[in-house]
Amino acid sequence: MDYFHYRSGRLHAEDVDVDEIAASVGTPVYIYSCRTIELHIERFREAFSALSPLVCYSVKANSNLAVLRICAAAGTGFDIVSGGELFRALRAGADASKIVYSGVGKTAAEIEQALDAGILLFNVESQAELEAISAIAATRGTTVDVSLRINPDVDAHTHEFTTTGRARDKFGIAMEDAEELAQRWGDFPNCRLIGLDIHIGSQITKPGPYALAIEKVLVLRDALLRLGHEIRYFDIGGGFGIFYRGGEAIPAADFASAIVPLVEGKGLDVILEPGRFIVGNAGILLTSVIYVKKQSGKRFVICDAAMNDLVRPSMYGAYHRIWPARTHMPFTADESVDTPLADVVGPVCESGDFMAKGRPLPRVEEGERLSIFAAGAYAMTMASNYNARPRAPEVMVDGASWSVVRRRETFEDLIRPEEEPPAEI
Ligand SMILES: *Cc1c(COP(=O)(O)O)cnc(C)c1O
Repeated sequence: MDYFHYRSGRLHAEDVDVDEIAASVGTPVYIYSCRTIELHIERFREAFSALSPLVCYSVKANSNLAVLRICAAAGTGFDIVSGGELFRALRAGADASKIVYSGVGKTAAEIEQALDAGILLFNVESQAELEAISAIAATRGTTVDVSLRINPDVDAHTHEFTTTGRARDKFGIAMEDAEELAQRWGDFPNCRLIGLDIHIGSQITKPGPYALAIEKVLVLRDALLRLGHEIRYFDIGGGFGIFYRGGEAIPAADFASAIVPLVEGKGLDVILEPGRFIVGNAGILLTSVIYVKKQSGKRFVICDAAMNDLVRPSMYGAYHRIWPARTHMPFTADESVDTPLADVVGPVCESGDFMAKGRPLPRVEEGERLSIFAAGAYAMTMASNYNARPRAPEVMVDGASWSVVRRRETFEDLIRPEEEPPAEI
């Protein structure tokens, strides 16, 4: 469910004609819907209301300050994976006591930064990290609250690069290793073990893998309780899948009905870390057709957006719906209907630069605008300046009004951090 819809053949974001935005700020442009973000936070909370969870929005999905402010205003906490994300969250007015910090490679500087901010806890992913945190805490004369991120060895059946809970993945600590660490916790005297954490992947479309992982971790929790650790927090991570094509995702309530009965009434404070679920369908990437080219019986629609703006199709083979911003034809993904096929590509000099391949798309002309849907998550946050392309602006729509929340980069922005080497003497 989102607030992007056609009115009289014109695509609107909430009550704003997207052409009006393009006419003012140009293309490509990311357009976000404030109401969609708010709706998804509400839906998510409602689904899991039996657990009264702390919902920590995962910043890496979309870290624009305007997005983070909407989340903070709705009362969410934040899941961060870097010092940069912590900086952004705090700038957006985050309550530090609702921030959890995940990731396999937290540096000493980042650990210090998080301690200065007073975050809720670290999701620790290795013995080495535990040693580092304990040592840093010791120099500060404090004790730090940590959860152990468990690698439950469960396959989330999503893309190879977004499956994170199998034994061969780099994430988390194996169950038996976690128990062993807990047995000799005296080695980490400045850490207090107060929780367990999992995050088994992203764009997960079935509840089964969550249930499997949770059951395993609850057994571990019992073992840790017997060792005297007061395991109070259980962080179930993110990964809740959304609609890209249509039909592949399930409602939050379906995830909840598999998860809630497993953890309810066990004296646990539950944390959830949705990213994509909150923002994925809350954004589009609007692009203009530069040229249409016919070659080897194929139609290439060459646009001004490219893999540097949206890398998911080339990186994950991801499907994004693409449709003209002005049309009376209803969207179809059906290749058997009488809609000609097209490869939608960008100007970047890579054969891997495509947004869609062999896709039904009405005839479009140069200058026409196309909407690439579900570009609210892992789009701008993964954008780059490859081919010296300035990154596209971001616009937030709220009802009938809209504003630029990140301006288009300029050529000067591209070279700003560069310096000439000193002249040789
Ligand atoms: C990326 C990530 C998330 C969010 O994943 P989504 O699929 O966007 O919900 C949550 N927790 C951790 C630790 C992550 O790395």
